[in-house]
Amino acid sequence: MTKAELIYEKKTVYEKAGKAITDAAFAYAEDYKRFLDQGKTEREALKASIALAEAKGYREYRLGDKISAGDKLYYNNRGKNLFVFSVGSEPINQGIRITAAHIDAPRIDLKQCPLYEDGGMGFFKTHYYGGIRKYQWVTTPLALHGVIATKDGGLIDVTIGEEETDPLFYINDLLPHLGQEQSKKPLSEGISGEQLNVLVGSMPDEEENSVSLHILKILNEKYGITEDDFLSSELCVVPAAKARDVGLDRSMVGAYGHDDRVCAYPILTALLDSPDSLRTNLCILADKEETGSDGPTGMQADLILDLINELAFHLGGNPAVVRANSKCLSADVSAAYDPNFPEVFEKRNTPLLGCGAVFTKFTGSRGKSGTNDASAEYIGWLRGVLSLDEVVWQAGELGKVDCGGGGTVAKYISKHNIDTIDLGVPVISMHAPWEVIAKVDLYETYRAVKAFYNH
Ligand code: MN
Ligand code: MN
Repeated sequence: MTKAELIYEKKTVYEKAGKAITDAAFAYAEDYKRFLDQGKTEREALKASIALAEAKGYREYRLGDKISAGDKLYYNNRGKNLFVFSVGSEPINQGIRITAAHIDAPRIDLKQCPLYEDGGMGFFKTHYYGGIRKYQWVTTPLALHGVIATKDGGLIDVTIGEEETDPLFYINDLLPHLGQEQSKKPLSEGISGEQLNVLVGSMPDEEENSVSLHILKILNEKYGITEDDFLSSELCVVPAAKARDVGLDRSMVGAYGHDDRVCAYPILTALLDSPDSLRTNLCILADKEETGSDGPTGMQADLILDLINELAFHLGGNPAVVRANSKCLSADVSAAYDPNFPEVFEKRNTPLLGCGAVFTKFTGSRGKSGTNDASAEYIGWLRGVLSLDEVVWQAGELGKVDCGGGGTVAKYISKHNIDTIDLGVPVISMHAPWEVIAKVDLYETYRAVKAFYNH
């Protein structure tokens, strides 16, 4: 055997796949950037996903509806969690191919009684959502997205800060001249959770000389709401920045919420772009991953079982057999090696930017605690599938041993007796208000999922 055959060497997508794939990756990223700008919250990402599915002939399914071979369906769970599936003609007991990614992202949510004024300024009180580094969210342009449910059953969509002419929002920080004591604090304590108050105004109304009353009057005029309507609202503060190319070579995309739309987009489009298959394929876009996958829209909910039960019932299968023969890719981002912070990475086993889709055998922390840990057999099978389409991929691990860690939805799917592995895109500055990915890694993830669905 030659040396090249004997040795495993990680190479970039540019080296391995060449110009045709790179060009295709750049074109694919244009559509991905549009998807990002349309969906900064799980509700918005779900709407954008439904629009893509309907354009490919998928129609809405409700629990209890009849399911037949050839159907292309989506199930909208509470406007936050989406199941998109194409029903094949082979016996359902052969199993289904499942992919799952989350469409929620770290952000700052308004509290239920948010509005107050102090020092001539109006503010919203907030409680952050997911694992943010609080110091990153001050002095940066912010937008407000979400919904307000009214007593009479109405639902008002709120989006302020996305149009060029919209106002923006802001979280204050200290000036360096007065920040000497703050600067001595550990990074995690420099800004506290209760300091993440969002600046929303500074001009009082004429009658009462009140900034907060002025804000309420503006909101009433625009949305017809009163202050008690905040009680039944879900309003999120997200970065106002749009998705943009990064680098002189335009090889990367910077955006808010790559984690995890950078995986949601490829798993969805890979399903929608796949030809009709004998097999049944399912794509799940989940909510609440960033807070532990709890609640009726998170991956710990039993809805996935309900749907598999319905598929088995209508197609003449046995749900336990369907699950036993199913396979899953849990699509979630990984941390790319960052040469600015080499101390937290073990370079041989850390994903490198530009080296393709990342397969992560195990996640967890402190001795793999809390991991799904995909089997060697399953990875062996996947290697075969990926090689059929010459997908460029790499093995990954999140940082050095005992340096931290993290989890994904993989364990909430594999517990149903479904072989599952983590697959995703390497990210720079994960969970920051603006994260960076490489276009070729996004595209190889799309190609990996397509191979999984089609072989
Ligand atoms: Mn995350
Ligand atoms: Mn994620």
